[in-house]
Amino acid sequence: MPIQILPPQLANQIAAGEVVERPASVVKELIENSLDAGATRIHIEIDKGGTKRIAIRDNGYGIAKDQLELALARHATSKIASLDDLEAIMSLGFRGEALASISSVSRLTLTSRPENQNEAWQAYAEGREMNVSLKPAAHPRGSTLEVLDLFYNTPARRKFLRTEKTEFTHIDEVIRRIALARFDVEFILTHNGKQTRHYRVANNEKQKQQRLSAICGSSFVSQAVHIDWQHDSLGIEGWVISPSHVQTATEIQYCYVNGRMMRDKLINHAIRQAYQEHIGQQQIPAYVLFLTVDPHQVDVNVHPAKHEVRFHQSRLVHDFIYQGITSALTPADIQSVHEEHQ
Ligand code: ADP
Ligand code: MG
Repeated sequence: MPIQILPPQLANQIAAGEVVERPASVVKELIENSLDAGATRIHIEIDKGGTKRIAIRDNGYGIAKDQLELALARHATSKIASLDDLEAIMSLGFRGEALASISSVSRLTLTSRPENQNEAWQAYAEGREMNVSLKPAAHPRGSTLEVLDLFYNTPARRKFLRTEKTEFTHIDEVIRRIALARFDVEFILTHNGKQTRHYRVANNEKQKQQRLSAICGSSFVSQAVHIDWQHDSLGIEGWVISPSHVQTATEIQYCYVNGRMMRDKLINHAIRQAYQEHIGQQQIPAYVLFLTVDPHQVDVNVHPAKHEVRFHQSRLVHDFIYQGITSALTPADIQSVHEEHQ
């Protein structure tokens, strides 16, 4: 076969293979877009585990009529314009690929109204042949993205979908992770028309603990130690389980770098090491940790789904986390979050 440039839809479908693994990945990308648009309230409506319908409605900045088509185009983003921007990312998105990828494997409708536009407009793209149709619509300030029939045109992908219940569990987990990182945003989740989660805005410590408790369970809240540690441009905040309550299994291992959920070996290692003298081999510490790092010091462009980061000074970050947790676990300081706030 001679070398040829792939048609745009096929190129997008290939890219979708990296970003859109299952309905939960669509939900993650869309919520991240809403957060990047400054939304303070996000409704997530799911039908049949997201395989039938995913609709995300936000009250963010919205997208102007003449930008709607661009929003769906590949490599089109409002978040970076230069390499300098890429080296200091604060937004969750920057690749300009999510909407193009999702629309290439679903029937996608984007409805939006920015504050300064009198009427809302809607763009529709099906299987994404690159011609988007626009029509007027009704919508308050913000955007709604509706994704129908995910993978309807990619049967190989569709085959890998699990049961409705399993797919919904993945979606619920994505929302828990994001809701932990954004106490300042309200999240409402419905499945098949029934509301399953409602995380209200948490402004004070008590409300934060309520959300933490709703997501991680009240026992974690009463058994965790609060940590808040700063050094130069590094910061670590959050909750770690007190050593006497560590168990052999936990699902509570949430770590964020500049607001982005991560699974990172270096961070895990530092946490593990901090607990080493307190716990046995088989025990696994539970934690919810938010790391802040100068965005110039971390590369987020490592993985298409952005699950990984690279720290420029990894040893420094490692030791910082180790020290932060060690100091929080020092016996004199061990005091449950629960007691702290009584
Ligand atoms: P990225 O997030 O990497 O920029 P996306 O494909 O996810 O790429 O989105 C493309 C663009 O569409 C974004 O840069 C943004 O300008 C716009 N956009 C997407 N979703 C929303 C939203 N919910 N509210 C406002 N703008 C949005
Ligand atoms: Mg995005």
